[in-house]
Amino acid sequence: MRQIAYTCLAFNLFILLAVEPAVAAEGLRAGAAKVVITPDVHAAAVYLAGYGQNRVATGVHDDLYARCLALGVGRETLEVCAADLIGLFYDDVLKIREAMKTQAPEVTHLIVASTHDHEGPDTMGLWGPGPLQSGIDEKYMVWLRERITQAAVEAARSMQPARLTLARDDHPLLAMLQSDSRPPYVKDPYLFVMHLASESSGQTIGDLINWSDHPETLGGKNTEITADYPHWLCQYVEASSGGTAIFVNGSIGGLLSSNGGSVALQDPETGAVAADNTWRKAELFGNFIGKIAERTVKGGEAVNVDSIDFRGATIYVPLHNDRFRLAGANGIFGGRKPLYTGGRIDPAIIQKDVPGMGELNFSTGRDVRTEVSYIRLLAGARVAAEIVTVPGEIYPELVNGGITRYPGADYPDAPFEPAIREHLKSPYQFIFGLANDELGYIIPKAEYDDQPPWLLGRKERWYGEVNSAGPDVAGVVTGAIAKLIDGR
Ligand SMILES: [Zn+2]
Repeated sequence: MRQIAYTCLAFNLFILLAVEPAVAAEGLRAGAAKVVITPDVHAAAVYLAGYGQNRVATGVHDDLYARCLALGVGRETLEVCAADLIGLFYDDVLKIREAMKTQAPEVTHLIVASTHDHEGPDTMGLWGPGPLQSGIDEKYMVWLRERITQAAVEAARSMQPARLTLARDDHPLLAMLQSDSRPPYVKDPYLFVMHLASESSGQTIGDLINWSDHPETLGGKNTEITADYPHWLCQYVEASSGGTAIFVNGSIGGLLSSNGGSVALQDPETGAVAADNTWRKAELFGNFIGKIAERTVKGGEAVNVDSIDFRGATIYVPLHNDRFRLAGANGIFGGRKPLYTGGRIDPAIIQKDVPGMGELNFSTGRDVRTEVSYIRLLAGARVAAEIVTVPGEIYPELVNGGITRYPGADYPDAPFEPAIREHLKSPYQFIFGLANDELGYIIPKAEYDDQPPWLLGRKERWYGEVNSAGPDVAGVVTGAIAKLIDGR
């Protein structure tokens, strides 16, 4: 009897398994699209984002793009767009999602990430003509949101049955292309690729490449608009693969950078190391990452994704940065980033005497509202790939582990935040940085250093805290992510 029962069970399982492909046959669909988002440098002054203020664009070296990849399974459609921008605030992402509701309601989850390009228009307001003047051009922002929406709609409309190949690379050279300017010297060298090909023709639909580094190769003296190394990276992958390339930046806090003497790329034509702040270095850099991405896909793994599981959370992070309070209250963000107290908008503003600047508006709300998400691509019961969205520039030690206590830290006894990868389960762990928002640097509290003495007895303050919302951001962000991953 037992034997028969087992046989029947095995037979039933066989039928279930045999039926499976029929269900999966309507399985994964994918589409990709890109649109130009380069501002017109002749229509109005374009303030370039990153470095100092009042850096006005004088021309266009290469176009900026919004690039989108849509993945559909059943009723779920996940879309990932990456724009060649310094950062896009949550307010703008919510507006794009609103437009998508009417134009492409089939897209159930839209992620809009920024590559953190330091050679494009100021979409955050911080790099305008002067300290209290926003660099945001609202006319451009309206057009930009329309264009990103257009790319997202086109990618969703072009979805067709597709095959997914997942790939990862831990090439040692990848870490050598990330200069790290602040201890602990933890990097995030992992490069992940999603390669989508048409089920019918085999032609490439798109390649999504996820890797971590500041696109700032051209430096603060350049005045020509460029997407920096992602331009060459995407160009290389598109030429070799034939689809649309989408580059999504990763954990770039601690200032993982494409510049710096330690990032030594030898120019094969001259034999010399390509200098920082040159077009040649950006080109060699992008092509090199492109080649690694191409090689990685060749060794990739075909996966039959049959469902997408999306978990998201709205979170409130305490704001401790007075510079952001002044910026918000004085119109630098153009009305974006309202503050919240107890989960409600708190528009309260007081007058504050700022040394050297006089009485200024100062917002007093407690928190900034943002979101995190955790997405699983499932193949049956197996977690094939995972995506974590992070609303800013996260320090790699919050992703890979390695938070370190140093003398001089402001919170020497702060508990360590959870390391994100310790919670992830699959080999393909996509970390999307600057996704849906840009909160600035997300720094482990135990390493936070806004007050002297400076970490490790340094003479001047470390860069990082200047552009961080505060010491509690890391705990709220990584805590919420760990909770989503663990399903709590
Ligand atoms: Zn940055």
